[in-house]
Amino acid sequence: MKKTIQVTYYECPVCGYNHTDRQKVYKHFTSHPIKVNEIVYCKICGAGWNVKARGKEAAIRKAEECFQKHQEEGNIDEVATEAFFLSHGAFGYVRKVET
Ligand SMILES: [Zn+2]
Ligand SMILES: [Zn+2]
Repeated sequence: MKKTIQVTYYECPVCGYNHTDRQKVYKHFTSHPIKVNEIVYCKICGAGWNVKARGKEAAIRKAEECFQKHQEEGNIDEVATEAFFLSHGAFGYVRKVET
């Protein structure tokens, strides 16, 4: 006689719903709505503003203000170069120097 019973449960990583039927859990899992997050980034330094938190226009305005700030501070190239390396090329840029 067996002394133990082993049961495998499959669990939905989103809400924790679980069942022994893998197919059933997978189907349940795919029924979850996909979350959408929209962020507006300053292209120079990579600072971001959440659209959901502020509304799209405000987020864009904030990012544009940030861009403007770099322009006014006159260090736009330095900030962009630093951001470029820190973000592995996602933000900023490297100005090509002619030699
Ligand atoms: Zn779920
Ligand atoms: Zn910025």
